[in-house]
Amino acid sequence: ETRRDTYVYDFSEGSREMRDLLGGKGANVAEMTRLLGAERVPAGFTITTEACVEYMRADRSEPDGLAGQVAAALERLEALVGKRLGDGEDPLLVSVRSGARESMPGMMDTVLNLGLNDVSVEGLAAKTGNPRFAWDSYRRFVQMFGNVVRGVPGERLEATIRELKGERGVKLDTELDVDALRELTGRFKALFEEQTGERFPQDPGEQLRQAIRAVFDSWMGERAIHYRRINRIPDDWGTAVNVQQMVFGNKGDTSGSGVAFSRDEVTGAPEPSGDFLQNAQGEDVVSGVRNTREIAELAEIMPDAHAELMEILRTLESHYGDMQDVEFTIEEGHLYMLQTRNAKRPAQAAVRFAVDAVEEGLLSKEQALLTVDVAKLDALLHPTFDPNAEVRAIARGVAASPGAAKGAVVFTADDAVAAAEEGRAVILVRPFTEADDVAGFHAARGILTSEGGKASHAALVARGMGRPCVCGASSLEIDVDGGEIRAPGGVVVRAGEQIAINGSTGLITTDDVPLVAAEWSPQFEQVLEWSDELRTLGVRANADTPQDAQRARRFGAEGIGLCRTEHMFMAADRQPKMQAMIMAEDEERRRAALAELLPLQQADFEGLFDAMAGAPVCIRLLDPPLHEFLPQRHEIEHELERLRDEGAALGGAGGGKVAELERTLVRVKALEEVNPMLGTRGCRLGILYPEIYEMQAVAIFAAAAAVRERTGRAPLLEVMIPLVDYEIELETLRRLVCDAAHERGLEVGEDFLVGTMIELPRACFLADSIAEHADFFSFGTNDLTQTALGFSRDDVESKFMGVYLERKIIDRSPFETLDTPGVGQMVRMAAWLGRKTKHALKLGVCGEHGGDPDSIDFFHHSGIDYVSCSPFRVPIARVAAARAAA
Ligand code: ADP
Ligand code: MG
Ligand code: MG
Repeated sequence: ETRRDTYVYDFSEGSREMRDLLGGKGANVAEMTRLLGAERVPAGFTITTEACVEYMRADRSEPDGLAGQVAAALERLEALVGKRLGDGEDPLLVSVRSGARESMPGMMDTVLNLGLNDVSVEGLAAKTGNPRFAWDSYRRFVQMFGNVVRGVPGERLEATIRELKGERGVKLDTELDVDALRELTGRFKALFEEQTGERFPQDPGEQLRQAIRAVFDSWMGERAIHYRRINRIPDDWGTAVNVQQMVFGNKGDTSGSGVAFSRDEVTGAPEPSGDFLQNAQGEDVVSGVRNTREIAELAEIMPDAHAELMEILRTLESHYGDMQDVEFTIEEGHLYMLQTRNAKRPAQAAVRFAVDAVEEGLLSKEQALLTVDVAKLDALLHPTFDPNAEVRAIARGVAASPGAAKGAVVFTADDAVAAAEEGRAVILVRPFTEADDVAGFHAARGILTSEGGKASHAALVARGMGRPCVCGASSLEIDVDGGEIRAPGGVVVRAGEQIAINGSTGLITTDDVPLVAAEWSPQFEQVLEWSDELRTLGVRANADTPQDAQRARRFGAEGIGLCRTEHMFMAADRQPKMQAMIMAEDEERRRAALAELLPLQQADFEGLFDAMAGAPVCIRLLDPPLHEFLPQRHEIEHELERLRDEGAALGGAGGGKVAELERTLVRVKALEEVNPMLGTRGCRLGILYPEIYEMQAVAIFAAAAAVRERTGRAPLLEVMIPLVDYEIELETLRRLVCDAAHERGLEVGEDFLVGTMIELPRACFLADSIAEHADFFSFGTNDLTQTALGFSRDDVESKFMGVYLERKIIDRSPFETLDTPGVGQMVRMAAWLGRKTKHALKLGVCGEHGGDPDSIDFFHHSGIDYVSCSPFRVPIARVAAARAAA
């Protein structure tokens, strides 16, 4: 339970259910304290996210009562462990750790070894009998506190270490002796004073107060804000702050620090994996400054601690019912757990875990599906290197995030972002990456680094975003300032040149390797099969060609939810005939032109029906404005000018062509509309030129007859009338379609259905009347979003969407995820009104939203029968529909 005005909870009071209040880290540390016992988890307390929210609201001042509660909690902690913060003989040291509701790895701040000062460092040295350790801890504290809390530039601090190492003639930090570390601490303090104008704070209470503020402030830091934007985390959640007794991985060779996963974090194979460092504190492992060792090696160095860790990983995994990602520290042989969370993992590992967990009896199928992050499944459908291609590697690195990518080399996040805005494919190449590079990850097709392993920042973030990544390619010299990569054998790749990486194997090449569609693992097939068992929502595909239809079927589509016939008229061999039809001066000539189009259109439909072999196919009659099929006005004018100039030079030649172009121009001008998206399109075309829809209806029915004759399998035909506003529009055009069918002895309701796309607000309000003439509705949520919001889909992105997202007027594009309060309610209302008229009215969704997991969840709960999306989204929609039902 939560208490009002309580800002501080001891670890012994919290639990995993309290993550909103205590943050993920705080809630899980509390949960581990219960589950594993107090001797496994260093004691401490959590300052709530609400305290942070109050702090932000009050313009960065601590809420009343916070200071007192922190002091009381600190006293309890001191009593529990029998040490006092800043004590001159045996000081308590604490870490001050950020931790939001959802983990934001490395985005916010953490300070270690707090409580050290010029006096307590001597006490620590004497008490432990290890002055080197004491001074190493103090210099780390001054460094971290200076950098994180007071903004002393990291490079200046690093440079100070380098200088001193040079002076002392050593290479590694671990080679600095106690005297050198004492000297280093002094130089850090001098730098602190130079940078902040203040002496390094000696009062531990003051240190703690400043550190807590710094963690709160880091929630509003630029990189945290950016990360939240990309990951759609609300700005007003705030972060919790965890104050925890320090344990020390830097006490010598029986100590160490590391990260571990309960299963392989890249493949999902059921063997724990991870990295650790001997004689180190936690930040050394992730920062990539030292080369880490594989967790398996821990078994040889510290067998007991290793065995305990393996046991704990199993316990945590079954307790949480999900793959875990933990941070641990070993102090003189004793294992401490510092953090656990559900592991972020690439799609292949997610499906592997889901299948294994069900087989092991750990989870039910429903539970297992809920562990799969649907958005990431995309990666399994993404290309890999063509296995038949011969690829010459210029280097190899760690296979850190699966999938293959190719693009031009860029060396900075800014360049990656700029390139993405121009639509260029790039690979972001860096020695290592930091939090500030995250925008570049988003913009790049793939990431390549020369340092760090599978637990490095680059690997973590790339997997989180589903970007292919190869890291730790240590044979590459990545010269960011010189703008080139130097590979073994004198190979040089400059900025802008092409490179390809395979994040599944670690291979790097400059060959122009063909990328091919991914092979599906048996585990992925299994997850899809379970999804099909569990879901109640149908999944169809939007497809206009036999190839798309075949792919859609392979991906598991149960039919075609939208075939856009206009694409069939855009093909090169159709365009002249289509133009002739549009240019026709009277109905007779128009019919003649249409007669030429008929066999082509029929052949298109036959291909589609063949591919769909008996499954439902929903065909939308012609929708776009006619002028779209004519050449553009400025092209005609340009050509006319050219011909006239030429004609003048040659003395009147080309006159016939000029006259024809002039006629086209007149027609283009006549058809031109100021706002074609709201003009003569959809069923309005069918009302003005019924012979067009008639030809399409004939082509559909003739094709169906031909395919039935040939294969014995009739497609389940659905003819869809687009952009209906008035029930009379639908009534009129339905009669037209039914008459064409009748001539072939076909009956509506038996041999085919006629329905409409619901994509205008009026149609939603009048859905009961419209349903009188419809056998089905298909919600065209793209146009419905455009017309309900009055947003032009083609303009919003480049014009105002960015600012709207920035200002938090909306948190995502309504064209990506359905605007449920507005457009969603219209869908529900129309569904309800439609079914009031016709109980069995079939309801589908064929907009972009049909492939968006969040929107799918909404449709599932709105009584929709099926969604239809692009073929590549079909597998994602199947899993999303199952999760909605689970
Ligand atoms: P992040 O969210 O960036 O991972 P953490 O708060 O987890 O930040 O801290 C980073 C690392 O600092 C941890 O992985 C751990 O190794 C080390 N650390 C934090 N608190 C303690 C502690 N009480 N004792 C020892 N090491 C700690
Ligand atoms: Mg951590
Ligand atoms: Mg539309």
